[in-house]
Amino acid sequence: MSNMDAQTNSFGSARAERKEREKQKIIQREKQRHTVKTISQILQKSAGEQTQEERRLLQDHQDTVQELKRRQSRRRLLQSKLEEVFDEAESLQSKVKQLAEALQQAQYVVVYTGAGISTAASIPDYRGPNGVWTQLQRGRSVSTSDLSRAEPTLTHMCLWLLHKEKMVQHVVSQNCDGLHLRSGLPRHALSELHGNMFIEVCSSCRPARELIRVFDVTERTALHRHGTGRRCPHCGGELRDTIVHFGERGTLEQPLNWSGAAQAAQRADLILCLGSSLKVLKKYSCLWCMNRPANKRPKLYIVNLQWTPKDNLATLKIHGKCDAVMSLLMEELGLEVPVYDRSQDPIFSLAKALGPQEQDSHTREEIAPPAAVEEDSCDAQAQGQGPALQGGWFGRGYSKARRKKKISIDPKA
Ligand SMILES: [Zn+2]
Repeated sequence: MSNMDAQTNSFGSARAERKEREKQKIIQREKQRHTVKTISQILQKSAGEQTQEERRLLQDHQDTVQELKRRQSRRRLLQSKLEEVFDEAESLQSKVKQLAEALQQAQYVVVYTGAGISTAASIPDYRGPNGVWTQLQRGRSVSTSDLSRAEPTLTHMCLWLLHKEKMVQHVVSQNCDGLHLRSGLPRHALSELHGNMFIEVCSSCRPARELIRVFDVTERTALHRHGTGRRCPHCGGELRDTIVHFGERGTLEQPLNWSGAAQAAQRADLILCLGSSLKVLKKYSCLWCMNRPANKRPKLYIVNLQWTPKDNLATLKIHGKCDAVMSLLMEELGLEVPVYDRSQDPIFSLAKALGPQEQDSHTREEIAPPAAVEEDSCDAQAQGQGPALQGGWFGRGYSKARRKKKISIDPKA
């Protein structure tokens, strides 16, 4: 045997050994997987259904059994957190009575609202079973009918009245649908933390110039892409939408009004959360006064069908639809539920008309003033039944960014 042959041979046997080791590892892993699968199948049977052999197998693999049981209870807990729960009528009534009394005694009330207050206006919520984020996280794209046809709900109108009656001092909303503004709630009493789909701004102007429109300005915008395609009539700078997407940081003074929200939270002795999973809101520490001892924090009342991460800190959790709870609340407070009146919608006086050259700069339906609605009454009845549209405020770009991220973390995914 030549020297070179011997070397090749020893290389060859080293490689064979390595291969053998790898093969054993794979076999071992496969065996383990098989055991886990078998055990999990056995665990699905009731004790009576298990054979003696199966029970012995469980005895021999206590660690695996424990781990599988832990995983199962984690899964159950996660599932129960997503379930929508409804309080029985009687319990709902008595809870609302408690809430009414608390509101009457409170000095300074802040309301945090989420997508759950707009579902009655055909706007999907975010984290409900068919919510926008739920869909995006499953990799599905989301579109909806034209939201400019949505109108303030009973809950929006009640909050407007409660503010007028000085029973609610500030409203902090995660919704971009602009419905609080359209209910008549004054700007100074409102923080739209994630923007307003009817507002575009020029941040080249100082201070930033705001233009309110009667149409959804986000048709061309997306995550990290906020230009609306129009120009500032004053300085010619690019106009952008005000939407704050998941993972973005909102810096605009208005309509986000963070300072108003933070000040309100500081002064609040009661916080009422309506229709929000609070999964995003909980991260904004300034809204919760968590730096104070528990007994010095504002009392927390939560109205939501699903579990929220603040439930265990709440004085009262009400499982009911926002509109149902609010109409009971108005009854308790002896207030009449106000009805939205399009002719009083502030958007018409706030909105800036497009210039002659800008008329074709968007394709979205405009919110029609009352006179036009009468002529167009068949259309108005079809509220929420229009063609499917995708708005930039609707998380566009989010699923793509998420896919990219996933790939960089886990190349196997
Ligand atoms: Zn400008």
